[in-house]
Amino acid sequence: MPDQQVDLAIVGLGAMGAAIAWQAAVRGLSVAGFDALEPPHTHGSTHGHSRIIREAYFEHPQYVPLVQRAYALWAELEASAETRLFEACGGLMIGRRGRTVVDGTLRAAFEHRLPVQTWAADDVRARVPVLAPDPDMVGVFEPRAGVLAPERAVGAMLDQARQAGAGLFVSERVRGWTSEPGHVDVRSASRHVRARRLVLAAGPWLASILGDLVLPLTVERVVQYWYPTAGDDRFTPARFPVFLLEAPDGRMLYGLPDQGRGLKLAEHHGGSPTTADAVDRQVSNAERATFHAFASRWVRDLPAGPADASVCLYTNMPDGDFLLDWHPSAPGVFLCSACSGHGFKFAPAIGEAVAAMVATGTSSHDLRPFRLGRLA
Ligand SMILES: Cc1cc2nc3c(=O)[nH]c(=O)nc-3n(C[C@H](O)[C@H](O)[C@H](O)COP(=O)(O)OP(=O)(O)OC[C@H]3O[C@@H](n4cnc5c(N)ncnc54)[C@H](O)[C@@H]3O)c2cc1C
Repeated sequence: MPDQQVDLAIVGLGAMGAAIAWQAAVRGLSVAGFDALEPPHTHGSTHGHSRIIREAYFEHPQYVPLVQRAYALWAELEASAETRLFEACGGLMIGRRGRTVVDGTLRAAFEHRLPVQTWAADDVRARVPVLAPDPDMVGVFEPRAGVLAPERAVGAMLDQARQAGAGLFVSERVRGWTSEPGHVDVRSASRHVRARRLVLAAGPWLASILGDLVLPLTVERVVQYWYPTAGDDRFTPARFPVFLLEAPDGRMLYGLPDQGRGLKLAEHHGGSPTTADAVDRQVSNAERATFHAFASRWVRDLPAGPADASVCLYTNMPDGDFLLDWHPSAPGVFLCSACSGHGFKFAPAIGEAVAAMVATGTSSHDLRPFRLGRLA
């Protein structure tokens, strides 16, 4: 017999699972959430002190309504949790015209009438003197972009979920689940929960909890670097927007201003394939030097090298979009894999959409672009 019966069980309480637990609990669903570790932690995809949020979404205009809803929900969370999660500093998408980043940003801005400005390379250099784009590059500036605090946000979402009645079991790995019409049984070493619905939000561990289902997910090892720029106000949020620069060879460098822990720079993708359990979490001196050579080509006056580095994990779908869909053969089980290196900013909106989907079978957000069947 189960120890507990609930409307919704969740495996994984990182960014996505925490948001789903919060949004489901405030809708009045009874919730049992499990995490193998103690989120927020540094082993999955949601650590490193900062995440970019931006609205003129070069990846596809379909994300704009979702991120607009997320902005509203982040503000609600800040108010109810009485904590600061967002710092506006503007965002600059840099590259050549005709390429993914600049054209995609302009397309999203045009389709959704977003107030962006296009700066020539000289304007970029004049306004953000530490950036060094090529003369044939442009920058598309959006004023609403900024930085979110991921660890604080996960903590706040979990607190809000608990306050709304969710039962959250941390340091409790789910070993398996079985689905029957009408209910799903979820088991950890010490607990058996029966739920009407189950959401699998295990991030880079998702493949290990899918049972027989094989998904085209790949886990990628990526490294975030911090440069000590304290005392140089050219790197502070007042003067340094979040940026992403598409180099002529297609590599993407991004950066976030120094909010007290150093300037953060990283390459978007370009990492090696791995798994969440086998990943090498050390960053060698050679790896740091290779990254520094790439970064200092585009950012001027950097210190001699990064002072700190941290390995993180992307869980990628082949098309770079998310997976938000019912399990194809297990009734009542919903798959939430919203990473592909860019999911954090959407977390509360995804939480809201998934909570509605498991409660009612529909959602006010259009989740069709994120169905598994799109890849067929
Ligand atoms: C370096 C880096 C930079 C990024 N930058 C940005 C950015 O600037 N903007 C942006 O929007 N997005 C960004 N992203 C993407 C974003 O951070 C991810 O989309 C998001 O954090 C994914 O959250 P998640 O909940 O899917 O995974 P996670 O936060 O990893 O959570 C998964 C959880 O599942 C738990 N779990 C696993 N297996 C089990 C089990 N069997 N039982 C119980 N629990 C289990 C784990 O312990 C973990 O806590 C970045 C990602 C990385 C790695």
